[in-house]
Parts: sequence; structure tokens; C-alpha cells
Amino acid sequence: MIVIDGSEGEGGGQVVRNACALSLVTGAPFRITNIRGGREKPGLMRQHVTAIEAACRIGGAACEGLTVGSSEMAFTPGKVVPGEYKFAVGTAGSTGLVLQTVLMPLCLADAPSRLVLEGGTHNMLAPPFDFIERSFLPIINRMGPSVTARIVRHGFYPRGGGRIEVEINPAPLRRIDCLARGALATRSATMLFAALPPDIANRAIGTARKALPDWPEDAFAVRELPVDQGPGTILMLEAEYGHVTEIVSGFGKLGVSAERLAHTAAHRMRGYEASDAFAGPYLADQLLLPMALAGGGSFTTVKPSQHSRTAADIIARFLDRRTVFEQQASGLHLVRID
Ligand code: ATP
Repeated sequence: MIVIDGSEGEGGGQVVRNACALSLVTGAPFRITNIRGGREKPGLMRQHVTAIEAACRIGGAACEGLTVGSSEMAFTPGKVVPGEYKFAVGTAGSTGLVLQTVLMPLCLADAPSRLVLEGGTHNMLAPPFDFIERSFLPIINRMGPSVTARIVRHGFYPRGGGRIEVEINPAPLRRIDCLARGALATRSATMLFAALPPDIANRAIGTARKALPDWPEDAFAVRELPVDQGPGTILMLEAEYGHVTEIVSGFGKLGVSAERLAHTAAHRMRGYEASDAFAGPYLADQLLLPMALAGGGSFTTVKPSQHSRTAADIIARFLDRRTVFEQQASGLHLVRID
């Protein structure tokens, strides 16, 4: 039995999700203590419980201690059964994080799957749907499987109510090396909003335009969603290159002005553009699990986050894989999984 101290490293929910995915693929049971011990309010939250329940359902796993607030649980995997599944995150918890938990086991299954995920689609501190669709999945597809996702309804915190559908055609994962991002193709800045005054969206997009002076004038747009999908707003700055697309998000929340949200997002995007890195910080931590399951791989990134280092540690507990983080002369970091 693998025993994990959930307070180590990043000490958040990603430790549990990655452990469930690795356990389902390898067949190794695990126990985790001090769940989310690095967070102000430790223990499992509703969205983590839904993600683990999803892992139990697709993988015939048995789980002890699976309740909201639990700080310790044991997970014994069964056999992964591909097929049609629907998972609803009770609150506006992130559908993307549920997908993160079950995607790799289903990509390696022996038949296709179709998932319906209900909850939040554009949540703070989680991959927004657009990031999953255009940043993350194209790389998974380059590794072998064919995964497509579509959004039926947007869901924002705290109301939720979003819906995404994902089709997974499995295939063995092959090693890829993602060193160069390729030539710049397009750039866009979109402010999505629903059931909020349009002035908020206009101010955010105006600030983004000023903060990204070399972006083309027609790159900037506001898009109003039907009122019943709100209230909520998100600014997405997207840069598409030949081999990768980076999406930097600014999530609207009470107490943060539209200008400040846009400023912060633009600053992050300028940082990514100024580097030559393939992966931004979020894509970096999300690529480690698929690459480890592929038997290896590599990518360049700006600066490895604590999430990335923690993901590498969890992977090493289940698989005979070593992740090396190497700073290069250019300042970039090369992440190599052997
Ligand atoms: P906790 O409350 O414990 O922090 P959590 O389960 O919400 O928990 P984390 O452990 O922080 O999550 O993991 C969040 C995941 O979401 C990471 O894989 C990270 O890369 C991804 N993520 C967060 N913000 C973004 C973003 N703006 N764009 C893309 N991915 C993101």
C-alpha cells in the first residue's frame, strides 16, 4: 500500500486527483493522510469528493473515508470500465478537475468513452473549458488518443449549472518532446460575461487592449452569454503558436475591479510571450501525468511551479519514472521525464 502525506509539497487537491488516476492505471492501492493539509481549510471539499467518486465509478474502486471534510482516505482500484458516464459536481465545483481525474485511465482503456460533466466550467484555480479544449487536449491527442470536448452551457462560481461533453477514443500513449512552441499564428482576447453589466466587460477589454499594444485591434472582443448562464465573467487571453496554444485567464470576482483583472492577465501573457517556453505554468503541471504514463517525454517551461514538483513526486510513488527539472542557459527550464 502506497502511503501519501497529503500536506507535502503543494498540499492541495491535485495530489488526490493524480493519486487516483495513477492508482487506476497501475492497479496500486494507496492511503492518503492530511488531505489538502497545505490549505487553509484542509480536508476533502465537495468537488474533490465528486472527482474521487468519478474515479471509483469508472475504475470499480473501493474507497474508505470519502466524505466532505475527510482528512484521510484509502483507495483500492478495480478494473477500468470505459463507457458512458455522467458526473455532476454538486456545487459550482470544476468539471475540468473531475475530467483531470478520469481522463488518463479512460485514454488507456480498451474501448471509447463518453462523459457528461455538470458543474462549473470557468472556475478560479481550475482549468477553464477553453484551456482544456485548445491548450491541453491537442497535446494529449498528439500522444495517441483522440479526445474531443464541447461546451453545452457555461457555469460560473457560485451558481454552476454548466455542462461539458467529452468523447474519448483511447490509444496507447506515445512519448513526445515539446521543446519549441513554433511560429505565432493568432492572438485573441475575449471577455465572456453573463448576467452582469456590459460596462464591466468593456472596461476589462479596454484595459487589456492598452496593456497588449502590439496585439492586433481585431483581437479584442466581448461576448455576452445568455442571462441564465450567469452571473459570471472571465477574460481569456489566447496566443496560438504552431505547436501549442497558451490561454491566460482572469476570473471575475467580487472585490477585484475589471481593470485589475485585465492588468494581471495581460502581465502574465506578456511574461509568456517574452519567453520561448512551450508550456505556461498550468499546462506544465498538467502534462506531467500523461507524459509519465507514456513512459517519458519532455517540455520547456518558464519556471516549474510547486504544483509541477508535487505532481512529479506523486508520479514517482506509483511509477518507476524520474522527473528532472533543469534550468537552461536561456533561463528556460527543461522538464524531462525519464
Ligand atoms: P485546492 O483547493 O486544494 O487548491 P484544487 O483541487 O482546486 O485544490 P489544485 O491542487 O490547486 O486544486 O490544482 C488546480 C489545478 O488546476 C492544477 O492542475 C492547475 O494547473 C489547474 N489550473 C489552475 N488555474 C488554472 C488556469 N487559470 N488555467 C489552467 N489551469 C489552471
